[in-house]
Amino acid sequence: MKTMDQCLTALVSVLGTPEKDIPLHAPYFGGNEWKYVKSCIDTGWVSSVGEYVNLFETKLIEYTKANYAVAVVNGTAALHIGLILANVNADDEVLIPSLTFIATANAVAYCGAIPHFIDSHPSNLGIDIEKLRNYLKENTIVKDRTCINKKSLRKITAIIPVHIFGHPVDMDALDEICQEYHLTIIEDASESLGSYYKGKHTGSFCDIAVLSFNGNKTVTCGGGGAILLKNAEMAKRAKHLTTTAKRAHRWEFYHDELGYNYRLPNINAALGCAQLEQLSGFVEKKRILAHQYYEAFQGIDIATILQESPYAKSNYWLNALILKKPDRQFVSSFIELANEHKLGLRGLWTPLDTLPMYLQCPKMDLSQTYALFDSVIALPSSPNLGSNYA
Ligand SMILES: *Cc1c(COP(=O)(O)O)cnc(C)c1O
Repeated sequence: MKTMDQCLTALVSVLGTPEKDIPLHAPYFGGNEWKYVKSCIDTGWVSSVGEYVNLFETKLIEYTKANYAVAVVNGTAALHIGLILANVNADDEVLIPSLTFIATANAVAYCGAIPHFIDSHPSNLGIDIEKLRNYLKENTIVKDRTCINKKSLRKITAIIPVHIFGHPVDMDALDEICQEYHLTIIEDASESLGSYYKGKHTGSFCDIAVLSFNGNKTVTCGGGGAILLKNAEMAKRAKHLTTTAKRAHRWEFYHDELGYNYRLPNINAALGCAQLEQLSGFVEKKRILAHQYYEAFQGIDIATILQESPYAKSNYWLNALILKKPDRQFVSSFIELANEHKLGLRGLWTPLDTLPMYLQCPKMDLSQTYALFDSVIALPSSPNLGSNYA
């Protein structure tokens, strides 16, 4: 097929003809990683107490300008605690996009709550805000400052916007709806460290936001996550809940509520500290790579490279090639062809509402999500690719 060959040529013009597989996103260790991790081993401070965990939180606050940061074992745990802080209870519904990584839905289910799936917009792969507005108007009522699903009669407590592939959701527009319907926002900024909305770092301006430092994210701790918070009381409670709800005492063990063993180990934080020192450079390189992809696909009429919204500065965590017309067959065949050439392309996550454990969940019309599933291809996006290749 001619168009498929053209797309492959465009890819190769950016990535070259690799001898080894190029993964979708590989970690890059070019700084103090070895030195900091070694010092944990040398001093014995490898576990849940140590200087790097506190330093990691301080560095996150410096970079994002959030008021508080609490480091945890992974992004899923951060979401779980974020939902508890938002007072999400069993049998509440939480609005989430169907088009996201599984962690967003799982964290809701861990609370005994029910994911309520909403549609996404092709302009930034995030929540379609106008569609949400109309949907809430028709399908919910607000009583005693509480949003009720007219069909299920359950309470809709919160919403989790996700900045997919690093592209910020229009948070001002979303905030307006959330105030009208009394929904608490938990911002899933797992993919958007280094992305800005109207000049402010994603996750820094809502009451509750989360980050992830998994191995495939822009910076990694091996595994890790963080909760970003605006208010001191919530930050204190987040720290308490993530450290088994143990009251501080030098030798007594007393836990005053159900807590979680979610604190980020010091050795992971050490890796994260070294990575954060390089974050600005990573983002710069990822933006250059995104531009190269954009240029390379300019002459191809069946597809485009997703660009940041006018209000946003994206970290381009992953670059998205979007077909102008959905075509499942093309998506599968092109991914296969590229992988044969050692280029680690991937598809989107299977829409979460179609997975066995979420089949019964409430949802709006998700036609745009299904169309995106059949038209988006994720391209290799590590910071050292393209002309950044060392
Ligand atoms: C990575 C990610 C998370 C968190 O994943 P962990 O592997 O638990 O750190 C949550 N939501 C989204 C959208 C993600 O991409």
